[in-house]
Amino acid sequence: MMLRIFLSYLAQAVWARNIVQNWGFARKMSARFVAGETLDEAIVVIQVLNKKGINATLDHLGENVCTEEDARQSTDEIITIIDRLKQVGVASGVSIKLSQIGLVVDSALCEENLLKILERAKNKDIFIRVDMEDSSLTEETLNLFTRTRNQGYHSIVGIAIQSYLFRTEDDVRKLLETGSKIRICKGAYKEPPEIAFPKKRDVDKNFDKITKLLLDRSLLEESRISSDGSFPPIPAIGTHDQERINYALEYARSINLPLQGLEIQMLHGIRSNLQDQLVKEGCPVRVYVPYGSEWYPYFVRRLAERPANLWFFLSNLFRS
Ligand SMILES: Cc1cc2nc3c(=O)[nH]c(=O)nc-3n(C[C@H](O)[C@H](O)[C@H](O)COP(=O)(O)OP(=O)(O)OC[C@H]3O[C@@H](n4cnc5c(N)ncnc54)[C@H](O)[C@@H]3O)c2cc1C
Repeated sequence: MMLRIFLSYLAQAVWARNIVQNWGFARKMSARFVAGETLDEAIVVIQVLNKKGINATLDHLGENVCTEEDARQSTDEIITIIDRLKQVGVASGVSIKLSQIGLVVDSALCEENLLKILERAKNKDIFIRVDMEDSSLTEETLNLFTRTRNQGYHSIVGIAIQSYLFRTEDDVRKLLETGSKIRICKGAYKEPPEIAFPKKRDVDKNFDKITKLLLDRSLLEESRISSDGSFPPIPAIGTHDQERINYALEYARSINLPLQGLEIQMLHGIRSNLQDQLVKEGCPVRVYVPYGSEWYPYFVRRLAERPANLWFFLSNLFRS
């Protein structure tokens, strides 16, 4: 518990970011999770995934942007990415964080930027997934998602939600009323016990409960991944946890939902053997491919998820 609080602090600390980002070993270790610093490098990673039958969602790393100018610049960068993905013709959508395009500066600015992104994505047939951030942004992220989606972007935008939050089941039920596309994940931030399940087994149980809701809805709406892999069905099951994946696949089988009615999502660099195995079994798989120079907070979250990663990192820190 104390460790997660400490890591959560480190993810935000400028001094730690400066040390770690300039440390050669950290850069090397982060390369396991991050597909490079440039868009070209990330596109090569996506092309390799596509050849294996795996779709992607590309994330230009960056979050908690604090000025209007930076938020507008991030928005322009995302629009460039959309154009480039279309031009290269890879099977990939884009994942974005609203704090990257101004949510912590001004909600109206963020909405304006999000609408610009969605309009371009609609023109280019690229799917946009709104990632979920820490709980200080949950309500506003959901509000902005719903408001913008309702302006004609229903089929090209989806949202991520987190099974560790108590509120999530209600949020999902509301989102499903309009058939929103949802990525369920466990949640990567440190949240207090007043609003989030402190025990892993409760987070897992809630994950399965939400999975069931998503699969039932997928069956009802006959929601399917598009044949070129660009547009996901309603349920995206975002986890590397074999038991959660097994639950999803078994439940799908029990209700006769075809595999094309769901997709399993994983992060670049984590359990790639399992990704390949699922593809062989005919299950749609999408990998989240992050790239860019702002890799520090993403990297710290990946360390926090797995003690083995953290100890490997720390043992090298003390050795150097
Ligand atoms: C596609 C995708 C999108 C996501 N989007 C969001 C989001 O928008 N908001 C958000 O809060 N979180 C997001 N997450 C992160 C998520 O919330 C979890 O923090 C993360 O996926 C780890 O949990 P798990 O479900 O894999 O289960 P766990 O129980 O943590 O892990 C299961 C197994 O997966 C492997 N594993 C998991 N993490 C690691 C790691 N870091 N390094 C090495 N092996 C690992 C291990 O073998 C582990 O035993 C996303 C995750 C995925 C896969």
